[in-house]
Amino acid sequence: MIKAAGNSIYIFKTKVIDANTYCFIQGNDALLVDAVQSDELQDFLLNREIDRIVILLTHGHYDHIMSVPSLKNLFDIVVICSDSGKDIIGNPKKNLSVVANHINFFRKNSKQEKEELDKIVPFGITCDLTLNDGEVYRWKNLEFKIFYTPGHSVDSVFYMLNDNYLFSGDTLLKGKKPILRFPGGCTQDYIRYTKPIIQSLSHTVEVFPGHGERFMISEGTVL
Ligand SMILES: [Zn+2]
Repeated sequence: MIKAAGNSIYIFKTKVIDANTYCFIQGNDALLVDAVQSDELQDFLLNREIDRIVILLTHGHYDHIMSVPSLKNLFDIVVICSDSGKDIIGNPKKNLSVVANHINFFRKNSKQEKEELDKIVPFGITCDLTLNDGEVYRWKNLEFKIFYTPGHSVDSVFYMLNDNYLFSGDTLLKGKKPILRFPGGCTQDYIRYTKPIIQSLSHTVEVFPGHGERFMISEGTVL
C-alpha cells in the first residue's frame, strides 16, 4: 500500500507477466485501475465489504481485464473504457485472450512453471461507460483526466490523477519501450499522437504502469 493524492493505493499483481491493478477504497466503494487476475484482490474486496466497484481500463488486452467476469459475480460493477475499447474488450481475438495461454507459456522458463500455469479460456466483457480524450472522470474527491494514447493498442488511454499521478497501462513502462507490434498496435499512431503527450509530462509526475514497478518521469523515460 502506498499514499497518493491523499489516498491509499493498494497494488495487486498477477503470478505471471507482473501485471498491476491499482485499488482505491473509500467507504464501501472501490475504484480499480485495470482488473488483473488476482485471488488476493477478490479476497481484499470481500474483506472490506465493498458494494460497488468502478473499473477504469487502460486498454482491453486480456491481462488487464481478466478479473472483470469473476468480480461481476460478486459486486456491483461499472466498467469504463475508451470509446474504441468497447469493441476490443468484448472480442476474444482483439483482447488477445485466444492467444493468452501461448503468450504465458513462452514467458515461463522451467517445465514445472509451465505446468503450473492456469489455463485461460477465451472471453469477452462489456463496458458500461466510455470516456473520450480530454474528459475528466470524477470519483469521490479524485479527478482522473483521460488522454487517448494509441500505439500499444488502438484503445489505450492514460488516466492522470490530480495532475500528478499517471496510470499508463502498457504505453509507458519503466525503462522499456512499449510493445507496438500486437494486432491493433500502430507505430505511426504512437509517434504522431502519444509520444508528444509523454514528452509534455512534467518531471514530477509519478507513473503507475500496467506492468512492473512505478517510477518518476524524471528517472528517464524510454520513448
Ligand atoms: Zn497490453
